[in-house]
Amino acid sequence: MIEAVNEILNKCENNCTLIAVSKTKSIDAIREVYDLGIRDFGENKVQELLSKIPLLPSDINWHMIGHLQTNKVKDIVGKVKLIHSVDSIKLANEINKQASKKGIVCDILIEINIANEESKYGFKDEEVDEAVCYMRSLDNVNLLGFMCVAPYQENAENNRIYFKKMNSYKTKYKLDILSMGMSNDYKVAIEEGASYIRVGTLIFGKR
Ligand SMILES: *Cc1c(COP(=O)(O)O)cnc(C)c1O
Repeated sequence: MIEAVNEILNKCENNCTLIAVSKTKSIDAIREVYDLGIRDFGENKVQELLSKIPLLPSDINWHMIGHLQTNKVKDIVGKVKLIHSVDSIKLANEINKQASKKGIVCDILIEINIANEESKYGFKDEEVDEAVCYMRSLDNVNLLGFMCVAPYQENAENNRIYFKKMNSYKTKYKLDILSMGMSNDYKVAIEEGASYIRVGTLIFGKR
């Protein structure tokens, strides 16, 4: 675990932040990683996230990285640093509404279905423009950038084109954050400008 975390942090240098993806993993396992200095953790299920928050140190930055149902938004707004997986206008509206009720502004990323896969969530290329415009118009969400879950590839190089495309969106809309790269392709993602990489298996082992 230490070796894996150190190798990943070396690749990040000061340019990107490692999010340790702790879904399905125990409190003890998370604390081990916390004790190595990691403060950003990612979860993909609301219930699991909510159950873990009170059992772990309060200086952890929690990231919601999984598909989010609108009826669960009220439970996590204000409790997470960033919602990466905003994949519909309806979801953005609900986040805006719940953030408004709490008197806060919620940081979000737009999820892009970058390889146009049937099985994946996220906006398609031709929908990104409208999504950006719309989310920028909302008072209680703060659009910081984009997130993608790239296809699984035996050869991570095959995802370089998708990461480049993500970077071109960031440039086009003058946004700051790109959340991209997982255990199998994080090095390529960093080379193409990732701000956050989301790594689970390499750190915690198989789920
Ligand atoms: C599980 C998950 C990850 C981490 O995947 P690994 O291959 O285990 O590193 C990253 N992002 C999302 C959205 C996930 O659901």
